[in-house]
Amino acid sequence: MVRTRFAPSPTGHLHIGGLRTAIFNYLFAKANGGEFILRIEDTDKERSREEFTQAILDGLEWCGINWDDICYQSKRNGIYEKYLNRLIEEGKAYRCYCSKERLERLKEEQLKRGENPHYDGHCRNLNEYPEDKPYVIRVKLPEDNIDFFDHLHGDMHFSYKEFDDFIIRRSDGSFMYNFTNVVDDIECGITHVIRGDDHLTNTAKQIVLYRLLGENPPEYTHVPMILGEDKTRLSKRHGAKSVLEYKQMGILPVALVNYLLRLGFSYGDKEIFSFDEMVKYFSLDRLNKSAAVFNPDKLIWVNFEHMKMMKPEELLKHLKPFLDEECFNFDDSYLIEAIKTRQTKAQTLVELADEIRFYCKPPEDYDKKALKKYVKASTREYIISLLEKLKDADFSSEETLEAVFESVLERFDIKMVKLAQPVRIALTGRGIGPGIYEMLMILGKNETINRLEKFLN
Ligand code: GLU
Repeated sequence: MVRTRFAPSPTGHLHIGGLRTAIFNYLFAKANGGEFILRIEDTDKERSREEFTQAILDGLEWCGINWDDICYQSKRNGIYEKYLNRLIEEGKAYRCYCSKERLERLKEEQLKRGENPHYDGHCRNLNEYPEDKPYVIRVKLPEDNIDFFDHLHGDMHFSYKEFDDFIIRRSDGSFMYNFTNVVDDIECGITHVIRGDDHLTNTAKQIVLYRLLGENPPEYTHVPMILGEDKTRLSKRHGAKSVLEYKQMGILPVALVNYLLRLGFSYGDKEIFSFDEMVKYFSLDRLNKSAAVFNPDKLIWVNFEHMKMMKPEELLKHLKPFLDEECFNFDDSYLIEAIKTRQTKAQTLVELADEIRFYCKPPEDYDKKALKKYVKASTREYIISLLEKLKDADFSSEETLEAVFESVLERFDIKMVKLAQPVRIALTGRGIGPGIYEMLMILGKNETINRLEKFLN
């Protein structure tokens, strides 16, 4: 069975690069009827923070990236010990007592000789262990070239000379990333690893560990990084915000996931994917080889498209955190009717909340430009006439309302804009809004009349 994992280190918030990695792994697992595992790589005690772990869980949950299982590396020391002892017993790893000072000196000498700094194997064959002296554990790097296949990069070759006897356990007893990562991928039966191509060199080291442990490595796909618009690696200054900041901006989770999927994956020229389509169409063969550029405007556009497509009932669930208090005096069916009139006009949930505010709350003031453009000396007369007729009108039928408006237009021999625009301003405070009749039907007779009367005063 296919098993993938997302293995964030909780040393910061979940950023979109990380989320995209999670999405690829999740979709690949689901597209193949497999399982997606979340592994919190919290072995670095100094830098890992619980609040970041929580933010990662919240971010994934919000995006609908549900994990089948979760594990925390900080709770798995016993397992790492077991694997470590195996390597030590088999003579594939050893204690190194070299002091910082010695390593510093070694580095300086190597640099002077024009060599890349590397550990010289000084403690490889110690016969005795000094007592009470701190030590790290290093692997005994085999003198074999390191090869592996990557789904995007093809056959990868590294010379063992590029590496040294790297440390797998620190002197404080904590384990290093490459080691715990490999042990956990083995223990969890991970079949496919999809991650950023900044990990390619780590993968070479990890291949060494698989060989030493006599295990088969998973299949690798190293995806290109996301770049900012200036083609440098995406960072905060490009708007590489934490995932939850996009939530606050009023982006739908499906839109963010869709946008990030497209940053690195294509299916013809299809841009908009529902969750089901993402699972249906995802395949590693459709991942792009070149880096993608993050474009915030495109994200907004993808969001706009999803907002238009979404069922209003569903949209309301996402919209609720953005609604004004007053909106909660109304039941969902009222708010859904309100949403229907504006959901194709708003680019974000923040905008949609703003667009439908007037359904729940009379305007506090009127747009000055709109007043100047549409409200003239004779407007008052038109509205008074309309008000009289509306008092007897049936608000449940668009035709009746239309007939009422028509009769006012006829009486004064005026065009619709001269009546409808002032009415719109009176009801919404703005010169732009939903169709006049649908708006009246939703607001209802009392509210419409109250707002028109207030406008006249
Ligand atoms: N904890 C590593 C990271 O956040 C995991 C990399 C991997 O997927 O193996 O970069």
